[in-house]
Amino acid sequence: MATAWTFHKGIRTIGGTVIEIDVDGHRLIFDMGRGFEPGSVIFDHELKPRGIRDLRRLGVAPAVDGIFAGDGTRDDRPTMIAVSHMHLDHMGFIPYLRADVPVLMSEDSHRLLQALDAVHDGPRTPLDIRAVAVDSLTSWGPFTIECVAVDHDCPGTTAFFITAGDLRFVYSADLRQHGKHPDYTLDFARRAHDFKPDVLFIEGTRADSEDNDHTIAETDLAQRIGDAARSTKAGVYVLFYPRHPERVDSFRAAAASSERELVLQPAHAYIYAQFGGNLTGVSLYSADLAAARPELQAWVARSGLPSVSPEDLRGSEHRFIVDMTYPRMVDFVDIEPAAGGIFLHCNGTPLGPYDPNWNNLMHWLQTFQLDFTYVGSTGHGSRTDILSLVTTIAPRVLMPIHSKSPERIGLTTVPRLMPAYGRVYTKADIDDAKCPTEADLQPLAD
Ligand SMILES: [Zn+2]
Ligand SMILES: [Zn+2]
Repeated sequence: MATAWTFHKGIRTIGGTVIEIDVDGHRLIFDMGRGFEPGSVIFDHELKPRGIRDLRRLGVAPAVDGIFAGDGTRDDRPTMIAVSHMHLDHMGFIPYLRADVPVLMSEDSHRLLQALDAVHDGPRTPLDIRAVAVDSLTSWGPFTIECVAVDHDCPGTTAFFITAGDLRFVYSADLRQHGKHPDYTLDFARRAHDFKPDVLFIEGTRADSEDNDHTIAETDLAQRIGDAARSTKAGVYVLFYPRHPERVDSFRAAAASSERELVLQPAHAYIYAQFGGNLTGVSLYSADLAAARPELQAWVARSGLPSVSPEDLRGSEHRFIVDMTYPRMVDFVDIEPAAGGIFLHCNGTPLGPYDPNWNNLMHWLQTFQLDFTYVGSTGHGSRTDILSLVTTIAPRVLMPIHSKSPERIGLTTVPRLMPAYGRVYTKADIDDAKCPTEADLQPLAD
């Protein structure tokens, strides 16, 4: 049977991309994430999905038969899932997978998944995880798959080089060149070029950001946060995404340069420790630890790290940089932040104004007179970065994904196919693909 591929989810949205490649009755599907589209909320905190059947019926989960436990569907073809990284928009549906469906991921992705399980934010369901070393080749049925590291704000993120029958595919995952490992992304592109892909699936999250003029590099964060902390004698709070433990290094450096102590949420400290993080001089935020998972409580007890409670912070905020989460902001009632305090948004949730919780965040900060500043570093390359990778890779055909403006991702010298639902793509589509014109690269009017 000829190689064919289809798109189940994630066209013209950020994340949630689910692509299936079929060869000889075998299916390889990547990724398995949940797109975040708060503008079209179908479930909420009252109207909750009971399980995967509800999520499928409402079009939230991908309509792929025979992979989810208990959805009543069947498909006996051998199927493997591959997951590029542990962001929810790439792995959010893996808790619903059947226990006998193999899930390929990098060893660091698996490490993060296990850490999330220990702190109550992981799938906690039996899964057939196949954790593989970066750069190793996995042969499965008619496929070979190589996980290749890229720079992203999540440990273990890998692109995939896939040989499927007589066609070769490269899937970029999410990537950037302004993190601490730009060499990963540049090496990926050079090796992808040598792989000679027939099809390149590449992300275009920032298709509307031409360059990085307004982007903070990951390596500049420690300085910026340290500067902010030295600018006030009051409290400093940071909101970050714990699935990016490397960022804690920047908080530690900022704390050292501003002669403050870093206070981490216990769950975040645990994840950081699983990736070799240095917790010397770090304290743990002690509110509500009794509600934590037993594994986490035991780790906290073993760690011997000092604890700092909201009551300890009251009147002493100038001594600390505090890792704060959105739900824990209720503790501001007990802390009573002193005037002049600052709240640094370092890519935690809520991520931005499109999130319904964003207005609430702003309201709480106003109530407690904390000054909001964004000091984060995006996990995604600019349009120019992405196009330079496409130039280097020079695929036979480009298929832009993971973007609100995928038509902006393209070059007039590289044939392009715009992904569409309900289409089965084959080698003939590659042969027929045309290079876009300049006009084709303009954003579509809403
Ligand atoms: Zn993503
Ligand atoms: Zn990501």
